[in-house]
Amino acid sequence: MAKYDYDLFSIGAGSGGVRASRVAAGFGARVAVAEERYLGGTCVNVGCIPKKLLVYASHYSEDFEDAAAYGWTVSQRRFDWTPLIENKNREIARLQGVYRELLEQAGVERIEGRACIVDPHTVRVGDRRFTAEHILVATGGWPSVPETPGIEHAITSNEAFHLKELPRRVILVGGGYIAVEFASIFNGFGVETVQLYRGPLFLRGFDDDVRKALAEEMRGKGIDLRFNLNVQKIEKTHASVVATLTDGSTLEADQIMYATGRLPATRDMGLVEAGVELNSKGAIIVDEYSRSTVPSIWAIGDVTDRIKLTPVAIHEGIALAQTLFGNRPTKPDHEDVPSAVFSQPQIGAVGLTEARARERYREIEIYRSHFRPLKHTLTGRDEKTMLKLIVDGASNRVIGAHMVGPDAGEIIQGIAIAVKCRATKAQFDATIGIHPTTAEEFVTLRAPVS
Ligand code: NDP
Repeated sequence: MAKYDYDLFSIGAGSGGVRASRVAAGFGARVAVAEERYLGGTCVNVGCIPKKLLVYASHYSEDFEDAAAYGWTVSQRRFDWTPLIENKNREIARLQGVYRELLEQAGVERIEGRACIVDPHTVRVGDRRFTAEHILVATGGWPSVPETPGIEHAITSNEAFHLKELPRRVILVGGGYIAVEFASIFNGFGVETVQLYRGPLFLRGFDDDVRKALAEEMRGKGIDLRFNLNVQKIEKTHASVVATLTDGSTLEADQIMYATGRLPATRDMGLVEAGVELNSKGAIIVDEYSRSTVPSIWAIGDVTDRIKLTPVAIHEGIALAQTLFGNRPTKPDHEDVPSAVFSQPQIGAVGLTEARARERYREIEIYRSHFRPLKHTLTGRDEKTMLKLIVDGASNRVIGAHMVGPDAGEIIQGIAIAVKCRATKAQFDATIGIHPTTAEEFVTLRAPVS
């Protein structure tokens, strides 16, 4: 008889947990996955997927405007929030069903409820106990907000996806992915949007040219971006919220949304008691193979606070299943991970920023182009696209590619393959462009900027 109920017990059925469980089961492991909230985790329910649907929806306002320059008359433009949210909810329910089916087909047992670790090989869900040779923690993260007085009047991205009605005025607090994306979404719907960031320029960690270019474009679209400012307190009036800012001024809005980071979901689940070490942010400390400080307990995805992106969690999940059950110890690869910010316009980036490249390499070359895309020669819209390559002068290798402009995510995904293959600038130059596209600029950047 088997020593344990399962070979692998996964806690959390988000992107990482589901993929690790399915691949492990494919290797013949006996697997269960416990989930307390929703199948698919943050990405499917209150993250990537619904966010992208809202991005599409909000972009129509500009598309309708631009259509006129191409001869179209679009009459009767009206936007209703309720059908959009209903359609979005229907799609999410469908995706949850897909996740359910995938787990069933893979032979993974699904357990509903909150799982707590009892000891290195035992998990409790409600009053049921399960033993497993390996336990995987893939519980993701949760929005974190500061202890600002009146913070209970603020919403986070979790609630933004389920608002009963679209606010007329909104304040966004934060300068990361989520704040920038939601500022663009609300603005696209015609909401008066103010975004506050505590530092001098938002999107810390992105390339400085990207940060400046996006700030300019967002301001150009009417978003009231205010830097070096934070909220001191929030008060609720009859129908609105009033934020008092650090410069003493006040701002009134219908909603105030905080996007001030996400913390790993590790509280009250018996991790520390079982001997799992957490870092100062509460993230599970893991080695290169995703193993925690307890040999039978592993962790992947946002809960480890390595790179908080769905495809990274999936990659870590596959690597873990290979390590544990595929006879192939595999370290997840966190080098040159591309990402996109679905702001309007989008950001796409892979590899090093210019600042990072200057720290690491003796001699670098920068190639940059800032131009009005063909589409807007007719519309007259003053939206510029910026793209940039960073090249190691010694090896000629492209070590960073950055873009602000329509479809930047789609374009950088392709460029990321070249960067991952360690392509040189000469190889970029030897590639024939596709004309007329924006992406062709990446292979026609001839002279470095001084
Ligand atoms: P981020 O960590 O990206 O940004 C948090 C922002 O909040 C920063 O600008 C930070 O400022 C600011 N902040 C933190 N604490 C405070 C505070 N007390 N007062 C005021 N401002 C504060 O978090 P997000 O919530 O935007 O997103 C979480 C993660 O989710 C991201 O890191 C990303 O990995 C992932 N994500 C990815 C997306 C994508 O791939 N498109 C989309 C959405 C999320 P400072 O810079 O000064 O620290």
